[in-house]
Amino acid sequence: MTDRYQSLIQNPIAQFLVKNIGLPNPPELERWRGSGPLVDGTVLLGGTDDGIVLPQLPTTLKHAGIDTTTVRAEGRRYKGLVFDATGIDSTQGLVAIQQFFTPVLRQLAPSARIVVLGHLPDRTGTTGAAIAQRGLEGFVRSLGKEIGANGSTANLVYLTQESRDAVDATLQFLLSPKSTFVDGQVIRIGTTELTSVDGPTDPRKPLAGKVALVTGASRGLGAAMARTLHRDGASIIGLDVPPLQNDLAALMAELGGSSIIADITTEDAPATIADQLRDGVDVVVHNAGITRDKRLKNMKPENWDKVIDVSVGAPQRITDELLNRGLIRDGGRIIGISSIAGIAGNNGQTNYGTAKAGVIGFVQDLAPRLTDRRITVNAIAPGFIETDMVKTMPIGIREAGRRLSSLSQGGQPVDVAEAIAWYCHPGSGAITGNVVRVCGQGFLGA
Ligand code: NAD
Repeated sequence: MTDRYQSLIQNPIAQFLVKNIGLPNPPELERWRGSGPLVDGTVLLGGTDDGIVLPQLPTTLKHAGIDTTTVRAEGRRYKGLVFDATGIDSTQGLVAIQQFFTPVLRQLAPSARIVVLGHLPDRTGTTGAAIAQRGLEGFVRSLGKEIGANGSTANLVYLTQESRDAVDATLQFLLSPKSTFVDGQVIRIGTTELTSVDGPTDPRKPLAGKVALVTGASRGLGAAMARTLHRDGASIIGLDVPPLQNDLAALMAELGGSSIIADITTEDAPATIADQLRDGVDVVVHNAGITRDKRLKNMKPENWDKVIDVSVGAPQRITDELLNRGLIRDGGRIIGISSIAGIAGNNGQTNYGTAKAGVIGFVQDLAPRLTDRRITVNAIAPGFIETDMVKTMPIGIREAGRRLSSLSQGGQPVDVAEAIAWYCHPGSGAITGNVVRVCGQGFLGA
């Protein structure tokens, strides 16, 4: 899947210009094709002696069919590197990361995945350890920028002594092509009393028996989410507005799902949706969103209100109704869709930036309130993803959105959908209150 610029630069003259005047040269990204090994190559494992995860890694990754080694061999290419840095407790100790990574970086295969495991800095107990562990974030974000040119990514997973056994599903996601557009991110496992996860499931259908509601499901990211959750075994209930009824019906027919036709901002929408989910729901993805871009000096009040209400006002009211009526099952997943505009802000998007930052406030407030029922609440913040929404952008902004990232291209809807499926996985039960960007490490924002 390439955009127009990617196709144009394939010819020899364009390649000459790319090399000599430094035009962006987007790598071809690998995506999960639904069969074959999760990782197409060997993963090199490393870590300090007192790392709390390294001892279990060869066994758990082998269970997932991932080939690993702890010994670097000259001349060999590695599809993944995992370094357990949880034991580093001083600034001097940080040299262990440099010693592991520097010699092996020339041996990265295309689209290789790097995962650093750290200890949640505020749970370390000493200042030296907190400094060292927080330092990992700068390391991973910088490394991601160095290795993006060949489609490789680097991410950091923080955990604790209690949550270290809850990392398998996350490692499988981050090491596989499913996370192709997740880069320079920090995932926190075990920030609440949720520290363990449900037992093993059918790896091909981890969501078998679950019911998932996706709003705005007829097209774009929502349609990809519906397809991906269905692929993983969930029964899908798609929701969209009346004008898109036929599109939604066609998709639900393809997936064997059912439709709810509603504008989520109407007063009766929460009750209508709850009535149709009377048998309960396991996954709620608040994906519906709109943009009405204008600089604040030209902003119409109705465009301010509508954008905020679709993205976060209505999701709050719908979630309240579903929780009050006990319709979200224990162990459920509530997922909000934020945006990099909600993290970094964007010119002409004060309404959208406010709405999408509000989504982060929503999930972070709700997450600790639902731990007793093992319901997790997280957000995904997409960067530039190729959908109808971005087709309306002025061309200059659109090209900048595509190229200004470590991977120098836009993502595909499936990239966001795979991240949603990872949040929904039974093995992600200790991940709550997280906001993960799916943005190819876009340079906009942190
Ligand atoms: P899209 O416009 O292609 O799809 C949005 C869907 O939401 C549509 O089906 C639409 O009918 C539905 N919707 C809108 N208002 C609704 C309402 N009141 N009630 C019910 N359904 C409603 O957009 P997309 O690009 O697929 O975006 C999906 C989500 O991802 C949105 O929340 C968007 O803000 C967010 N997002 C997208 C990008 C991107 O680059 N595409 C980046 C960041 C965030």
